[in-house]
Amino acid sequence: TEIPIGSPVRTQAIINRYFMKAKKSLGQNFLVDLDVLQGIVRAAAIKPGDQVIEIGPGIGSLTEQLLNAGAKVYAYEVDENLPEVLHNELPAKINGKPLNQCFKLKMKDILKADFEADLVDFFDLNKPIKVVANLPYYITTPIIFFLNNSQLKFTSLTLMMQKEVADRLHAHVGTKEYGPLTIAVQAEMSVRSYLTVKSSSFIPQPKVDSSVVVLKPLAAANKPDIANLEHFNRVVKMCFAQRRKTLNNNLKVLLPDEKQRLALIKSLGVDSRIRPEQLTLEQFVEIAHRVSVKN
Ligand code: SAM
Repeated sequence: TEIPIGSPVRTQAIINRYFMKAKKSLGQNFLVDLDVLQGIVRAAAIKPGDQVIEIGPGIGSLTEQLLNAGAKVYAYEVDENLPEVLHNELPAKINGKPLNQCFKLKMKDILKADFEADLVDFFDLNKPIKVVANLPYYITTPIIFFLNNSQLKFTSLTLMMQKEVADRLHAHVGTKEYGPLTIAVQAEMSVRSYLTVKSSSFIPQPKVDSSVVVLKPLAAANKPDIANLEHFNRVVKMCFAQRRKTLNNNLKVLLPDEKQRLALIKSLGVDSRIRPEQLTLEQFVEIAHRVSVKN
């Protein structure tokens, strides 16, 4: 039996065999650390039969570990060179089953995914679906917003990302990391960091440290009362449009009338010179209830 794809020697051999050049523009940093790969599988609590969406399988290092753990994997990829590599390098049989019964590759930008339509032939949409990925870092934030707003309700998202973005997901009110991403995610999901990963665990090495983060939907009882998530996120973004300015200043676009603005801010029980990063999630929920966004 072959050594795992995610071992440094095997990855290097694959890169040589296909004359591959990791594409920077696609955020290609392949994981070559079996401890980290198994750590991701553990963080995602993969059990036999789990339905998993993988974003960016690359040459299959993480995919192989997910399959070995018994997951059924539906993977989105955009690099046209990779179908051949994955087809040749992933094991032909997984736990006695042919590969095509447990793995499906979809050549499509994840940000254009239409989950229900894409998955219906491969997954049972009435059963839980997890997302697991070593993300392409150039679009980490758009992917998190996209998954967060998606209609498909995932049971968990286990995502390797640059540590700087992970810090924003965890951020507390009043810190410089606290912003629209923090608020959008914390309004919907719990955030837990699993491991910090050094750049030496990848080929080629990214310039930044990484973190594996697990996001899980909040129970209905713990969710803030947000009528329309899209509206909420837009209002929050507008409140942060100019981070260094006061909330009063940022609200001018949404509420041109100064009196109305000051009344709203006063009703939040805060000083009129408050800055957006000093407002709690609940206070943003209140603001979103009180303003409308015109296109
Ligand atoms: N999973 C592999 C691993 O852990 O070694 C590769 C991870 S690499 C950091 C990110 C992968 O995402 C690359 O294979 C890249 O081609 C793919 N990718 C980049 N942009 C994408 C997009 N818009 N949609 C889907 N996959 C994308």
